[in-house]
Amino acid sequence: MTLSIKQESLAIVCHCALTVAHVLLECNHYNVVRQRYFNVSALHELFDTVNAQSILAFIRDIGLYRLL
Ligand SMILES: [Zn+2]
Repeated sequence: MTLSIKQESLAIVCHCALTVAHVLLECNHYNVVRQRYFNVSALHELFDTVNAQSILAFIRDIGLYRLL
């Protein structure tokens, strides 16, 4: 699974450090939604323990799916 979110597009909704790890793990903007899908502290943990369907569902839920 590869993630290549366009960083300039992310700036619309998030003004933090705009990285994939930030959105998937850290961004307070997405905390509530994220906790419905997974709760991990590192990217390797995410990809090891959370199935791709849940990750994609989260991304779709926060409205970034079209950016992938
Ligand atoms: Zn953020």
